[in-house]
Amino acid sequence: MTEWKDGIAKITLPTPFPVGDVNAYLIKGERLTLVDAGVNTEESWNSLTAQMDDLNLSPNDIEQVVLTHHHPDHAGMLDFFPDSLEVYGHPLNERWIRPTEAFLQEQEDFFRLYFQEFGLPKEFFPFLSELRKTLKYSCNRSLTGHLVEGMRPLGLNDWQVIETPGHAQSQIALFREKDGVLIGGDLILAHISPNPLLEPPAPGETERPKPQLQHNDSMKKLLSYPIQYVYTGHGEEVHQLEELIEKRLTRQHERAMTVNNWLKQEKLTVFEICQRLFPSVYQREPILTISETVAQLDYLSSIGEIISNDSLPVLYQATR
Ligand SMILES: [Zn+2]
Repeated sequence: MTEWKDGIAKITLPTPFPVGDVNAYLIKGERLTLVDAGVNTEESWNSLTAQMDDLNLSPNDIEQVVLTHHHPDHAGMLDFFPDSLEVYGHPLNERWIRPTEAFLQEQEDFFRLYFQEFGLPKEFFPFLSELRKTLKYSCNRSLTGHLVEGMRPLGLNDWQVIETPGHAQSQIALFREKDGVLIGGDLILAHISPNPLLEPPAPGETERPKPQLQHNDSMKKLLSYPIQYVYTGHGEEVHQLEELIEKRLTRQHERAMTVNNWLKQEKLTVFEICQRLFPSVYQREPILTISETVAQLDYLSSIGEIISNDSLPVLYQATR
């Protein structure tokens, strides 16, 4: 039974992805706001309709959507809404929620370059042309307006935007000072650590983002806000935020140090490390597992534990 709690109603929507259901949130404000829309499927839409019915509302009553980030399980269902629906989010959502052919090509080229640098064998290159298929559950909608650090969405004067890049370059959280509630997207989840997914540089940038370092900074950034609890993008609420952030940072450091130990023994490519970290998954999920591997290497480089050379593929080694 969907119900209001302090002006927020949690809506849980089905997805076809391994992560399972995704959470969206209705906020009663001067404008009825939906934070995140599930995947682009009938099942998701029917589920939203049924849960809003519990509140004596219908999806037509929604006046605006705020996106925590651009992933298909958070934005795809936008296509089910009328064109007049207003959609707000970080400007970096746009290239994913209304992808142009030029951007899809840019994404493919970006990963091709890095596949070579990371030492992926030839048989993985067909994955590149399939990248665009992952947008099957996404949408084709434009942002009505942008939300960046410190802004308050229209009609939601209690809520403030905190930029929290990492899992997605476009990610933001919404914070309500008066009672310390945070709607955090996929920044912090109760049971799993979100994937630090590689993305092409933002328009105008040339360097690849380092999502694990951003993600760690975004988590640490939350510690400076008086947060009571977090409504998450998947699963249950998080109540002991400080404790969980400590745990996540420690676990990530430990995983990186395992990689560091290998690099004390021999020089390795990203692909070789990926195979060791994810022996049963890397063939099926190269993008996810490579992202997770690069995450550990970016981290180790940032703390001075490893260096890489200029060969192709690039070889990593420990500094001590
Ligand atoms: Zn996500």
